[in-house]
Amino acid sequence: MTTIAVYPGSFDPITNGHLDVIYRAATMFDRVVVAVAQNVEKVPLFSAPDRVALARAAVQGHPNVTVDEFDGLLVRYARRIGARVLVRGLRAVSDFEYEFQMALVNRRLDRHIETIFLMPKEEYIFLSSRTVKEVAALGGDVSGFVPSVVERALRRKLGVNGTQRRRSKRLA
Ligand code: ADP
Repeated sequence: MTTIAVYPGSFDPITNGHLDVIYRAATMFDRVVVAVAQNVEKVPLFSAPDRVALARAAVQGHPNVTVDEFDGLLVRYARRIGARVLVRGLRAVSDFEYEFQMALVNRRLDRHIETIFLMPKEEYIFLSSRTVKEVAALGGDVSGFVPSVVERALRRKLGVNGTQRRRSKRLA
């Protein structure tokens, strides 16, 4: 039987931390579907189609990894594509409470779907899409944090010196 795992998230944009989790999952499951959430709570920097396109470009060359878009209940989406596993990444302890809560809620919604947590390489423990956007917005070098296709997209989106179209509230 083919085991399909879904890795859901906003991926705004996809980072090397996400990719680390994806590649670990790809060695464990027959298929990994990176599921980009259409509706995210905060206003995303990249539109859903852009987030999908960037994720697709980033995972190219990994035949058992695909990228899809989803909307609505995650467990419903997982059921629809025949996935029994949800993959989430765990960084610092700060991720734990929210992730724990979500995993238990999803288990209540569908007891046949299991959530597993993967830890990235230590160098990605403090990496988040938000940090990447903040550094890029201030014109910082994000080449060690994201694949080059994302780096170029950030530069296009934010302008040459990073501060033209978007200012970071936290670091500005
Ligand atoms: P969400 O908005 O659902 O948190 P994200 O795109 O920010 O979506 O993240 C998707 C998943 O990837 C989450 O489980 C998150 O904890 C995990 N993740 C994000 N960045 C990293 C990283 N650097 N290392 C490991 N996991 C990560």
